[in-house]
Amino acid sequence: MQKLQGVGVSLGIAVGRAKVLNRQPLQVASRSIDASDVSSELVRFRSALEHIGNDISRLLDSFSFGKNERDILDTHRLILQDPELIKSVERMVRDDLICLEHAVSRHFQKAAKLFDEMEDDYMAQRIADYREINQRLLRHLQGNEQKIELDTDTILVVDEIPVSLLMKLSRDKLRGIVTDKGSRTSHAAIVARSLGLPVVVGLRDVITEVEDNAHCILDGQSGQLIINPDSHTSDVYEQLLSNQEQHREDLLKLVEQETATADGTRIHLRLNIELPEEMDHVLHLSEDGVGLFRTEFLFMDRSSLPTEEEQYIIYREVAEKLLPAPLVIRTVDIGGDKLSNLLNIEPEKNPALGCRGIRLSLEHPDLFRTQIMAILRAAVTGNIRVMLPLISCVEQVQRSRKLIRTCEQELAQRGREFRRNVPLGVMIETPAAAMISSVLATECDFFSIGTNDLIQYTLAVDRASDTVADQFDPYHPAVLHLITLTVQNARKHNLPVSICGEMAAESDFIPFLIGLGLHDLSVSPGIYLTAKENIMRVQSSDIVDLVLDVLDAECSAEVKQRIRDWHKASRKSR
Ligand code: PEP
Ligand code: MG
Repeated sequence: MQKLQGVGVSLGIAVGRAKVLNRQPLQVASRSIDASDVSSELVRFRSALEHIGNDISRLLDSFSFGKNERDILDTHRLILQDPELIKSVERMVRDDLICLEHAVSRHFQKAAKLFDEMEDDYMAQRIADYREINQRLLRHLQGNEQKIELDTDTILVVDEIPVSLLMKLSRDKLRGIVTDKGSRTSHAAIVARSLGLPVVVGLRDVITEVEDNAHCILDGQSGQLIINPDSHTSDVYEQLLSNQEQHREDLLKLVEQETATADGTRIHLRLNIELPEEMDHVLHLSEDGVGLFRTEFLFMDRSSLPTEEEQYIIYREVAEKLLPAPLVIRTVDIGGDKLSNLLNIEPEKNPALGCRGIRLSLEHPDLFRTQIMAILRAAVTGNIRVMLPLISCVEQVQRSRKLIRTCEQELAQRGREFRRNVPLGVMIETPAAAMISSVLATECDFFSIGTNDLIQYTLAVDRASDTVADQFDPYHPAVLHLITLTVQNARKHNLPVSICGEMAAESDFIPFLIGLGLHDLSVSPGIYLTAKENIMRVQSSDIVDLVLDVLDAECSAEVKQRIRDWHKASRKSR
């Protein structure tokens, strides 16, 4: 038995046989061609582009993919249609007289180098997309396209998940995926999560460690791949797997029940949504609406900024589906680098600390105004609230309010229907915002605590980095004290406060957060029912001591121990 440790990016357990795809990248040697071969090379190039483009279209037509998957395939199509690709490859073949395969490789190497210099997770994904298209083109040109047959209960072992391949594989047979490379935000991880497959990434050299057909257990929670498990481990995981199935069925029964603690305190449990298309699949889960609608999707992978009309239609549609429950729309929270081609700005060395969130919106008032006007118009029919990301000082809220007022004036002048005084909230996700929450409370209508960034900025730990992933620590007393301070200040000013970071869904923290007085939680759809189950187990009388105990702890280990002890005692008393 051997255990490999990686990073779990999609939860769940999978048991099956390894299918190792050792897709060594194709290398091509430089070869000169005669001038008389140029036209046949160019025809071969156009036909390869067309073939792969058609393949992507067929794939899109043959499955009902979600917006995420379609966007990724569209990105691949855009790369194939990129005039720069066509121009530069044709120029190299025509002017430098080098063979087509080599010209293609050279083009993609240059593109990858450009993205590589940007040092950013999002850009790293662009490299993966480029690499994938490069390899597909080369495989096609060399008559080397792969067909992959899966056996039942397959755990796919790959260096990096090729998205198009993932979408073609039989979903009935594929149980999970492990990879050498990748991160939480890689496209492949997103697709795998939306397919509900457990995934562990970053298991360096896994493709050489695992033999094809080896018996494997994949644990998306602990981030482990267990190769050739002994019989005891197999038995434990078989049991866990069967519990997982049973638990899934039990959770579904909770949908009909009201979200409240065991002793009847009503808790609002809302949804975090990233794509409007998600709504139809998750609407049935919550009667409390959406506590965080991330609007970044509207601004990603496109050639122009979304118009007011386009945004208005989307916001109105989502809000109307939720009525009478609210829709909290967060204005775009995106780093300057991700929009650089749309806004004509230089990519930054350190985007997490750069021009992102509210800073970017205030820096680009046209972009901000367009989004605000779309929201104010949609608020005529929807129960909509606006929320500002990455606030770190009170002036940012004041400037945003002022801009909202001018939007109201402009809409009035244009004779458009819109709603005045749409509630304006602030995300508390920087230590600065938590520290001045007493002042911020006088400038806004609600708070929502974003623990993902709050942890990142409080502990100075890059939330996207594998290297420091173990130091991204929600148990750290500094994080818990900042949350507490925010809740206390909100209460002092009678201001509604909610929490929408991942901590809101964690079983360890739910009783503590409710004990602090957070009765409004917003979580991802995938974990919604588990969070609800945890809320429904909380006894209000039990949690007072828990809060005092946790806030009295001096280090993370102590916090964790006290929470675990409390859970143990509480399980016993149930
Ligand atoms: C957060 O930071 O906790 C949050 C909810 O926002 P995001 O994860 O989109 O940054
Ligand atoms: Mg955030």
